[in-house]
Amino acid sequence: SPVIELDHVSKRYPNGFVALEKVSLSFFPGEIHALLGENGAGKSTLMNILYGVHEPTEGGVLMNGRQVIHRRPADAIANGIGMVHQHFKLVAPFTVAENLALVARGERKKLFRRHADIRAFMQAYGVELDPAAVVGQLPLALQQRVEILKALVNDTRVLLLDEPSTILTPKEISELYDTARRICANGTAVAVVTHNVDEVLSHADRYTILRRGKTNGSGLTAGCTSAE
Ligand code: ADP
Ligand code: ADP
Repeated sequence: SPVIELDHVSKRYPNGFVALEKVSLSFFPGEIHALLGENGAGKSTLMNILYGVHEPTEGGVLMNGRQVIHRRPADAIANGIGMVHQHFKLVAPFTVAENLALVARGERKKLFRRHADIRAFMQAYGVELDPAAVVGQLPLALQQRVEILKALVNDTRVLLLDEPSTILTPKEISELYDTARRICANGTAVAVVTHNVDEVLSHADRYTILRRGKTNGSGLTAGCTSAE
């Protein structure tokens, strides 16, 4: 059953523009679900509703079948949602370890003090970064990896990636999805916004197409192994 669902969600911005209209869709544990659509289709709006940046004007968000209300990102994070924005929110002069410690909540803060523990956390996702590396000096693809790790720090069950591949080479895109696969392996749902149909067919399990704020098709890719 889905870990998170949009149930007839509409979003009207204060200027009256309707960016989403009665959109219903489900994200399943262990799946990579791609959101496809042209610029302006409503993809970022959808992700921002899941992450509590925006509230729906109508409709609701369900987690494990129960209605949740995310008024701000802190609410979404507390419910196990992590998001990687197109524009990174890393602290460039700080190390990998420091950037992770900054977002860790409660008891988790302790875990991100010891470099050995950080290495173990990263290795679970097949990432081998030096915890002492200064983030601003890393290549963009690795900075993005740190953003992904930040989004996973707090027991994340749903990972939202907003157009992660636009800054990546084809080889780096494959590596990104290798990481996404490992993230899925423990039951996390991965939602990824992209324009790239080839990427979806090669790497995603499921896709939904958005067009002018409405769903305009959805399905499973040939490689999908989901049993729902
Ligand atoms: P996408 O991510 O698919 O490019 P967005 O969700 O960013 O689409 O935007 C969907 C539509 O909503 C666009 O036409 C955009 O201009 C509009 N929009 C986005 N944010 C706002 C806002 N804060 N106020 C008014 N219109 C907005
Ligand atoms: P993205 O980089 O995700 O495509 P944009 O550059 O389209 O985002 O938008 C950046 C910010 O401006 C977002 O917070 C979005 O909600 C807002 N925005 C986008 N389009 C409009 C619009 N037509 N009117 C007001 N705000 C908008």
